[in-house]
Amino acid sequence: MSVETATLKNGKTLQFNSDMIGDGAMKEVYFTTDRKKVVCFFKDPQAGSDRLRVQRLDFILGKYNPTLPRDAGGAASSAGDAAFYSNLFCWPTDIVTQPRFGIVTATYPNNFFFETGPDFIKGKEKNGVRFLGRRNRQLLEKLAPRELGTWINYFKLCITMTRAVARLHLAGLSHSDLSPNNVLVDPVGGSSIVIDIDSLVVPGLFPPDVLGTKGYIAPEVLSTLPLKFDDPKRQHPSARTDEHALAVLIYQYLLLRHPLDGRRIPPGNTAEEQDALQYGSQAIFCEHPTDDSNRVEEPNSVPNTCLGPLLPDLFKRAFVDGLHQPHRRPSANEWLKALIKTWDLLTPCANAQCPQKWHVFDAQKRQCPFCGTVARQPVPVLRLRYEAKPGQWLADGQLVVYDKLYLMKWHAFARLFPGPETDRTPQGYFAWHEGQWLLINQNLTSLTTSAGNRVPPGQAVALTHGSQIRLSQEPNGRIVEVQLQ
Ligand SMILES: [Zn+2]
Repeated sequence: MSVETATLKNGKTLQFNSDMIGDGAMKEVYFTTDRKKVVCFFKDPQAGSDRLRVQRLDFILGKYNPTLPRDAGGAASSAGDAAFYSNLFCWPTDIVTQPRFGIVTATYPNNFFFETGPDFIKGKEKNGVRFLGRRNRQLLEKLAPRELGTWINYFKLCITMTRAVARLHLAGLSHSDLSPNNVLVDPVGGSSIVIDIDSLVVPGLFPPDVLGTKGYIAPEVLSTLPLKFDDPKRQHPSARTDEHALAVLIYQYLLLRHPLDGRRIPPGNTAEEQDALQYGSQAIFCEHPTDDSNRVEEPNSVPNTCLGPLLPDLFKRAFVDGLHQPHRRPSANEWLKALIKTWDLLTPCANAQCPQKWHVFDAQKRQCPFCGTVARQPVPVLRLRYEAKPGQWLADGQLVVYDKLYLMKWHAFARLFPGPETDRTPQGYFAWHEGQWLLINQNLTSLTTSAGNRVPPGQAVALTHGSQIRLSQEPNGRIVEVQLQ
């Protein structure tokens, strides 16, 4: 191994080790000598003289860069905003001009490498593919079971992945090749990181010649692939096609099956022809409400309706209404809002042996959809209300309570959404104590009981059925109505 020098576009230099650590379809990857960054050289010797590619990279690293503050030439509104999104993307930091054309990115954080398992697993990147599909999961279960994580962490990583995609779309960018290969996931800690940022679709520039990945390419892209690249009928990667891939990924991580893989075997003489129909012009949702031709064969498959009141509607829009009509697909932002609201409905399973450990609480069934166990003690459901007009209190969500759950600012106040700059100081927490549920106040200055008594920080209020608790007397302070179910 020798040490070589890369010259960056900004004139600076960087030392890297000559041993190649990764060899992808488009790039060769090397560690810098301090291993904090990687240098990726494009395999295509013409890449550096491809004017469009260079221009696209300049935009991606500069004015469209959500991990760089605006005063440093990026798109983030502040240093805090930039730091928040730096955790969700592996964004390129520099362009390399010598010895070959390439880019520099940070090394993936340690939690995106397997910590356990035999040599062919341990130390490898946590590519999403390794956690999807029965065969891959069985392999991990046998050889590195701790790496599989729990269901709540898949839910969490869906939120981080959706935040990343929503941020791209907000800027007018699209990823163009969203798939489990390009989103590393950590089901142990519940996080994700979007990689392969250099093929983003940048507004106003010709799209990159990216085909996408089987199973994630939108049906309209797949069915127009045989057309010439510049044929006006040919559909190219866009935010609409990202929305298809995002919906597929969310469905897969939460239900561990592909939404378009059912019992139907499409006609076609080759696997390629069959795939083109199955994921393209003849794609059918395996949970289509009226067409049952592509149902899943597994007897115990959990339906998407067990994911609470909001997500099933979005799956229907993504895989029924919008499957062949891209403009009807839910946006990444709609997914983000629905996932965050559904996060407030999660509850731990009463069965310690449950394979998934968590699920979305259903007040009617009170049962875990994964193992069938019924809740043992009453579950407090807080109906959140906010004052739309003086004296007019409207419902706007629910919070399902469990032991040691924190009450956050966006629960206590309406018109707050957990975003990059949101105050994440817990306002209180819930506890099951001597046979009753309590809300212990930590930071709410005007928490008031049904009877009108103030509950100062450090003291608790009991959650009794039918009681109404005012979380704050300040503007936008919410009232919660307690229901024990
Ligand atoms: Zn269960």
